[in-house]
Amino acid sequence: MGSGGMIVMDEDDCMVNIAKFYLDFTQDESCGKCTPCRIGTKRMYEILDKITIGEGTMEDITKLRNLGKMIKDSALCGLGQTAPNPVLSTLEYFYDEYLAHIQDKRCPAGACKALAKYKIDADKCIGCTACARVCPVNCIEGKPKQKHVIDAEKCIACGACYTACKFDAVIRP
Ligand code: SF4
Ligand code: SF4
Ligand code: SF4
Repeated sequence: MGSGGMIVMDEDDCMVNIAKFYLDFTQDESCGKCTPCRIGTKRMYEILDKITIGEGTMEDITKLRNLGKMIKDSALCGLGQTAPNPVLSTLEYFYDEYLAHIQDKRCPAGACKALAKYKIDADKCIGCTACARVCPVNCIEGKPKQKHVIDAEKCIACGACYTACKFDAVIRP
């Protein structure tokens, strides 16, 4: 009822990216009357954006926590007071995803395109050619019934091959 809701997500949803999505929403909805909400959430969004493109640092985690707490304590209305929740709760329950982005420069869900990488596991590939047929930039090489290989230089990380492969041979290392 009201503004309550439930969203079901899976391993293909990046929690850092989702937190960023909610901060973006807050930017649109904020009336701008008070500084914590108007400027604080903007700074949080910028930090999350940095993390999703692989430029985040461990110091950014501390900044997110401190800013989030300050905004919750000082924003004038419920919108600002709850705006940091997606960041604070993903930091609590999906901290490993933040670490993957910051320390390993990797997005486990493959949602942050700047960090997504795809590779074919030669042990699992049976050469069905499905991945090569859906690749929009033709960067998968291999003949039918032979192991296929992704040219990492040309790959644009669209994820189509990952979805197309029925043998779990396309992996996000
Ligand atoms: S917390 Fe409420 S009053 Fe303050 S800027 Fe945000 S929406 Fe406006
Ligand atoms: S779709 Fe999977 S099994 Fe088929 S060629 Fe590509 S990687 Fe190999
Ligand atoms: S992720 Fe997209 S561009 Fe990269 S190899 Fe797979 S299908 Fe091609």
